[in-house]
Amino acid sequence: MARVDGEKRLDAMWRRAAFVDSIAHMQEIRPLLEQIVGPHNLLSAAAWNARGVAWETHQPCNAWAVIRPSNTKQVARIMQVCHEFGQSVVPYGGLTNLVKGCASTGSDLALSFEIMNQIEDIDVTASTMTVQAGVTMQAVQERALQENLYFPVDIGARGTCMVGGNVSTNAGGTKVIRHGMIRDSVLGLEVVMADGTIIESMNHFLKNNSGFDLKQLFIGTEGVLGLITRIIFRLETLPTTHNVALVACENYDQVLAVLQKARQSLGSSLCGFEVMWDNFFGQVVKPVGKHASPVAAGHAFNIIIESMGSQPGADDDTFENFLTDSFESQLITDGAIAKSGSERDGIWAIRHEVEWVVRDAFIFDVSLPIASVSDYVNTITRKISAEINDARIAAFGHLGDNNIHISVLSDSKTAATARLVEKCVYESLIPYRGAISAEHGIGLEKKDYLPISRTSAEIELMRVLKRSLDPKNILNPGKVISPG
Ligand SMILES: Cc1cc2nc3c(=O)[nH]c(=O)nc-3n(C[C@H](O)[C@H](O)[C@H](O)COP(=O)(O)OP(=O)(O)OC[C@H]3O[C@@H](n4cnc5c(N)ncnc54)[C@H](O)[C@@H]3O)c2cc1C
Repeated sequence: MARVDGEKRLDAMWRRAAFVDSIAHMQEIRPLLEQIVGPHNLLSAAAWNARGVAWETHQPCNAWAVIRPSNTKQVARIMQVCHEFGQSVVPYGGLTNLVKGCASTGSDLALSFEIMNQIEDIDVTASTMTVQAGVTMQAVQERALQENLYFPVDIGARGTCMVGGNVSTNAGGTKVIRHGMIRDSVLGLEVVMADGTIIESMNHFLKNNSGFDLKQLFIGTEGVLGLITRIIFRLETLPTTHNVALVACENYDQVLAVLQKARQSLGSSLCGFEVMWDNFFGQVVKPVGKHASPVAAGHAFNIIIESMGSQPGADDDTFENFLTDSFESQLITDGAIAKSGSERDGIWAIRHEVEWVVRDAFIFDVSLPIASVSDYVNTITRKISAEINDARIAAFGHLGDNNIHISVLSDSKTAATARLVEKCVYESLIPYRGAISAEHGIGLEKKDYLPISRTSAEIELMRVLKRSLDPKNILNPGKVISPG
C-alpha cells in the first residue's frame, strides 16, 4: 500500500512539474507547432470533443490542444519542440482502448494520428503491407482482401481503432488461438522517440537476427517509450474455407472437452473459440437482447467455434464430423452450423454485442490457466455479490487463448465501488498467477495492480527503459508505470 501511495505522489510531482512548464511555454510552443502542421491541424479540446466518439471509452480530451501531423517528419519536428519545452504528449489512435490509455490533463498536448492514414504499399510476393499509424484495422483487412491476402487480427472496434494504437496495445482479438497477437504480424516499425529522433526499423523479412529486435520495445508499451509512425505488416494467405458454429454446453468440463476435441480434430484450421457464459449470452439474444440466435438462451455456456482452411469440401466435412462427434458423445447439447456468410456474421454479431458492457459496466480482461477459469469466475461472482447487492456479472471471452472478459454492472458508479470490484477481480487472480491484462493493456486504470502480474524486478526494468528513452517523462506520462 505504501508503495502505491509513493508512486502516486511521484506521479503528481512529475505532472505538476510538467504543468508548470507547459503553462509557461504554451504561448511559445503554439506558433512553433502551427508552423509545422498549419493552424487547421492544431485543434482545441472543445473542437475535438464536439466531434463525438464512435465508442464511449470515457476519455474526453482535456489537453490544451490536439495536433494532427500528416507524416513522420512532422511528428519528429513536433517531438523536438515538445522535448525542448518539456511538453507532455498523449498519443491518440482511434481512442477505443478500455484502460484510459489516452487520458489527458490541461497540461498535455494530444497528438492524433488520424490524418496519417495512408496505405503506402502492398507487396503481394512478399505478403507484406506498409502503412501509416493512422490507418484503421478494417482498412488494412480490406486492402489485403483485394489481393487475396489476409490480415488475421480482428477486433470488434475494427472500423475505428488504428493500427498504431493496435500495435501500441499489442491487440489480440478473436483469432489469437491461430495467428497470435498483433505482435506476430509486425515485421517492421518506424518510431519517433521523445527527443524527435526517428528510428527506422522497417524490417521486411520473417527472419532478421541482426542485433536487437528493437521494434519489440514499442509493441504493447502504450506510447510511453516512443510514437509509432509506420508499420510493415506480414499478411497471410487467404483461407478458402470458413466454418462457424454456435454450440451449447451445460457445464465447464464439457467446455474444456470440446476445446480439446476442437484442437485435435481441426488442427491448425481452428481459429476461434469464444465462450459466453449465459449471463452474457442471455442479455444479447432475443427475447431480452436484439439478436436472433439459432441456440436459445438458458444453457450454462455458449461457444462460437470457427475454422478457416484451404481444402474446400474436406474442411467442411471435418468441421461437421467434429460437431457430430461432440454431440453424440454428449459434450454439446445444442448447436448450429452457419450455412452462409450472413449466418456466420449473425453468430459473430452475438459475441460482438458489447456496447452495453463498454458503456455502462466495470470491465476486466484477465488471463489465467484455462482449467481454472470457471472456478475463478465463480469465486469473483461470490465475492462481488457479497460486497455489492445489485451487482450483475457477465463473463465472456477468448477462452481458447486463456483470456476472459468480466463485466460488472451496478447502479453505483462511484470510485469506491470501482475499487471494490477491482480488488475482487485482480486479487482473486493471485492464486492462479494470472495476468491483470490479457490484451487491453494497463493505461492509467490498472497501474496500481501491476505488481500482481509483474515482479518488482520486472517493474524496475520497465522504469529503467522509460527513464533512458524518455528522460523528461513527456511521452504519455502516468500510463503503465511511473518513471520512479
Ligand atoms: C468494442 C470494442 C471491442 C474491443 N475488442 C478488443 C479485442 O478483442 N482485443 C483487444 O486487444 N482489444 C480490444 N478492444 C480494445 C481496443 O480496441 C484496443 O486496445 C485497440 O488496439 C486500441 O486501438 P486504438 O487505435 O483505438 O488506440 P487508442 O485507444 O487510441 O490508444 C491505445 C494506446 O496506444 C497509444 N497510442 C495510440 N497510437 C499510438 C501510436 N501511433 N504510437 C504510440 N502510441 C500510440 C495511446 O496513447 C494509448 O495508450 C476493444 C475495444 C472496443 C471498444
